[in-house]
Order: sequence, then C-alpha cells, then structure tokens
Amino acid sequence: MKETTLTSRLVGDAQNMGIDLFGVAAADGFSDPEYLGKRPGDVFPGLASVVVIGVAVPKGAIRPLPRGRAQYTNTLMAGTATLRVAAFALARTLEAEGYGAAIVPCEGSEFGYWYADRQTLMADFSMKYAAWLAGLGSFGKNHLLITEAYGPRVRLAALLTDAPLEPGRPVGGLLSEQCAGCTRCIEACPVGAFTHEGIDRQKCASYMFGELGGLRCGMCIRACPLAGEHRGGSVHE
Ligand code: SF4
Ligand code: SF4
Repeated sequence: MKETTLTSRLVGDAQNMGIDLFGVAAADGFSDPEYLGKRPGDVFPGLASVVVIGVAVPKGAIRPLPRGRAQYTNTLMAGTATLRVAAFALARTLEAEGYGAAIVPCEGSEFGYWYADRQTLMADFSMKYAAWLAGLGSFGKNHLLITEAYGPRVRLAALLTDAPLEPGRPVGGLLSEQCAGCTRCIEACPVGAFTHEGIDRQKCASYMFGELGGLRCGMCIRACPLAGEHRGGSVHE
C-alpha cells in the first residue's frame, strides 16, 4: 500500500475509534539541534515515522478542579485507555501491511511517561515534540501541547513504526504565540513548578504522587483560557 493510502487508512481507522487528533512525525525531525530530548530511533531501530494520536479531555472533568480530582483523574485514565486500544489496533493494521510498530508508554499507563527515567522524569523521547513536528500544535508556557481545537486539554499517545507514512509539518514555532502576555498557568500552579529555566518535573510529580496520593492536579490546564474556547463554552465559569 502506498504511503499516502496507508496514512489515510490509519486516519480513518483512528477517527472511527474516537480519536480526535492524528499526526505523523518523520523520524529525521528529531535530528534538529533544537531538539534536546532522547531520540526515538534509539529505542526502535529502523524508525521511519512516529504516529501521534490524541483525545480531547471533556471540559466537565476539568471545570470542578481542584475539587473533583478523583473524577478528573479517572477521566484522564479513560482517555488513556481509549488511546491504548486505538494505538493497538493501529499497530495491528501496520503489521498487516508488513511493517513493525510499538506503542510508546504514556502518562497514565503503568509504564507511564513520568517513569521513563526516575531521576529526570524524562521519557524515551518527547511525545509533545513529535506532536509539534506532526503539526498538531505547539508548546504552551505550561509545557503542554497547545492544540488549535482543544488548547492544552488533550491526552496523547504515540506509535513508533518503520512504515514510511506521510508526515505532517509544524504549523508554527515551537512556542505558542497564544501565550504572549499570559501567565495564568504559571500563577495557578499550587507548588510553583514553573521556573525561568522551565518546568520542575520533580516538584509537579512530588505534589501529585505524594501530597495528592496519585490523583492528578490539572490546575495549569484549568487556568488556561485556550482549554475551552472551542466546541461550546469555556472551562471557566
Ligand atoms: S499539574 Fe499542577 S503541580 Fe503540575 S505543573 Fe501543572 S499546576 Fe503545577
Ligand atoms: S494559561 Fe496562558 S500562558 Fe499558560 S498555556 Fe494557556 S495561554 Fe499559554
């Protein structure tokens, strides 16, 4: 199957499984000197493409934060489950077409994103950078992917594959222009995890996995004016 045909088939299959975002990053995009993370090709020899899929987190789970953390957390995990089922089906489709594919651990799975390296909390590669390469959004000051349709209110998963799929391209710079003049996410963080150097992942993780007992925080999403401006209404009351 030609790369455009196979890509179109994957897009259609993903949509039919409730996936809201689909993009492809070419493997060579991780060679750019501005990319500082680990390279996905190091954990998947012969890598040609990174498929990124995403679901929008329902606004109703974010609006009640910081109360309702249990419901928010469970909603995130349901998003992760949806992504994992879809990613598995896509991996099988790729295999049926003669290619290899593996699903990257994501936050909310038992081999989650946060746990890739216990010291630095860095994953095997940046899924959000792959999403940027694929044209799904850019980085916000909250260090989350800012998408056009859902702002930072998204959950992501990725597959590594040797299939030469049709790649997307970034829709703008690495940092979101929509963050200009805004610091709401920074001010909303209960532990001051955002610094001039970036995000202090240990602070964020210690808060959620220590003080909150594993429940997720979400205040840097709750505060973002881009999280709810599409698809009917705002996250803010
Ligand atoms: S999830 Fe909460 S603790 Fe972590 S960076 Fe966002 S606001 Fe701060
Ligand atoms: S709250 Fe403001 S600064 Fe933070 S990600 Fe959203 S738009 Fe950007």
